[in-house]
Amino acid sequence: MVSRPFFVAVGLATAVLAAAAQAPNSPDWTAPFPPFKIAGNLYYVGSKGLANYLITTPEGHILINSDLEANVPLIKASVEKLGFKFTDIKILLISHAHWDHNAASDTVKKLTGAWTIADDSGRGYRRIVPSPKPVSIIESAAIRSLIASGAVVIAAGGGGIPVAAAEDGYAGVDAVVDKDYAAEQLGTSIGADTLILVTGVEQVQLNFGTPQQRPLDLITSAEAERWLADGQFPEGSMGPKVHAAIRFLKNGGRRVVITTPELAAEALEPAADGTLRVGTTIVLSDSLAAANP
Ligand SMILES: [Zn+2]
Repeated sequence: MVSRPFFVAVGLATAVLAAAAQAPNSPDWTAPFPPFKIAGNLYYVGSKGLANYLITTPEGHILINSDLEANVPLIKASVEKLGFKFTDIKILLISHAHWDHNAASDTVKKLTGAWTIADDSGRGYRRIVPSPKPVSIIESAAIRSLIASGAVVIAAGGGGIPVAAAEDGYAGVDAVVDKDYAAEQLGTSIGADTLILVTGVEQVQLNFGTPQQRPLDLITSAEAERWLADGQFPEGSMGPKVHAAIRFLKNGGRRVVITTPELAAEALEPAADGTLRVGTTIVLSDSLAAANP
């Protein structure tokens, strides 16, 4: 029975960490503590002040949380003292996103090759992998000839399949390519004129979530860059889209439209008086100056 001790462990971890938060930089955090069996296949492998748990299974072990970089040798020693191999840890389960645990998580991954699994905003546990920016689309020549033949090409879905250069060709890597940058890279590599980034909102907003919130209709890449630097478009939401838009325009694209899938076609067609009706359009600063001398 793995599921029962698992929930016990997460409950304990939360309680201990909440207590630790009231006493920052306590010496207890990195003080060794004798490991012990809690129940069944659940063991305590943490320090005196920071809790870590080990769930053992015949298929490999699960370590709950990594905590500080200095804790890794203590955790490793505790696991070994209990008679288990540190390298048999297959999953590092992260219960909460404290930034100061990242270095230790990375060290545990390097030492064990374990997968990192964490709760995804209450939507369940997921494996966590890096989200690198793509440097090129390998099939772009094939995509270009398909387009030239009149085909409608669907490519780079979900960011595409990530590969890296290997000794003889390419090898798959554990990652999820950033989708917005993949779209930009695809658009640039086929010499596209317009890039549409579809999303859940009709327009990009300035001062989002404040009384000063206002939708953006037509902006320049210079404005987009300035607002991006001001923190108007957070990473993890609109930030990557605006970054990708700027890169597309700098790489020779003419315009970028950000809107919902339903409004995408309409956003490409200006009203009779030349004004844009829906969506957010971003153009190069120079091209806007040329259009409105
Ligand atoms: Zn923490």
